[in-house]
Amino acid sequence: RAIRHLHARVAPLGPSFVLVLCDDQTEAKRLEAVRRDFVANVSHELKTPIGAIALLAEAVTDFADDPEAVERFGARMQRESKRLTQLVQEIIDLSRVQDHETPAASELIPISQVIDDAVDRAATRADSKNITLQVVSGGEWAVEGNYELLVNAVRNLVDNAISYSNEGTQVGIGAKLDDGRIAIAVTDQGIGLSREDTERVFERFYRVDPARSRVTGGTGLGLSIVKHIVASHGGEIRVWSQLGQGSTFTILLPIARGGDSPELAAAAEQ
Ligand code: ADP
Repeated sequence: RAIRHLHARVAPLGPSFVLVLCDDQTEAKRLEAVRRDFVANVSHELKTPIGAIALLAEAVTDFADDPEAVERFGARMQRESKRLTQLVQEIIDLSRVQDHETPAASELIPISQVIDDAVDRAATRADSKNITLQVVSGGEWAVEGNYELLVNAVRNLVDNAISYSNEGTQVGIGAKLDDGRIAIAVTDQGIGLSREDTERVFERFYRVDPARSRVTGGTGLGLSIVKHIVASHGGEIRVWSQLGQGSTFTILLPIARGGDSPELAAAAEQ
């Protein structure tokens, strides 16, 4: 275990007593290290696209009389600035959900609506890889929380399932009851993860294969955003995966009070 950093203050209380006040600074030190790592990672991640854009801008000037080269460099500059924008947006999203800045609204949210919306938003990417998105629902339940954040979380999982799968495969998205909680599972037939990697994928900026992730436009922040969104709704996220076989990411959320009522089920069927 980590060496504990104890901060002790000793106050003499008389000839035979001393009062020792111990203040455990282990957690504060750990948080400080996490913050420092995060800032270092952010700077590093931002430097890559900024550096690329600077080089490309120079190249455009050097090749000003070659329209084909200018077009090629221009297209790459666009890709890099898109990546930069996405990165900045994800850093903002992460800091908001981390600090619980986004209040969990107290509206009842039907889970089927969250899934349908997330699937709709991922459909174009799935089509471009000829991947079928198959929605299976075992019933209708509601959770309490923030609609956009929940859609964002499920969509992130579906996007990953698409990114890390081969063309022509299937991705299943389903909801069911699991020990009194709602389980939303996203299953793919993709490249899978080793046991070691399943333990690390929720860390900020962790990517199994940075080169591949870069091609798919990944930042390594998606799953840590999902983890925080789920935690802010009182839930947790689990992963099952096998290399070469595929993965299942499952979000477990508490059912809202009244969120498993027959009225809700009837409303969902209309
Ligand atoms: P990224 O933006 O790189 O996708 P994430 O935080 O969403 O970042 O995921 C972290 C890493 O976990 C990815 O880079 C990828 O290596 C791995 N990963 C995530 N989802 C899957 C999946 N469905 N199948 C295989 N690997 C995955």
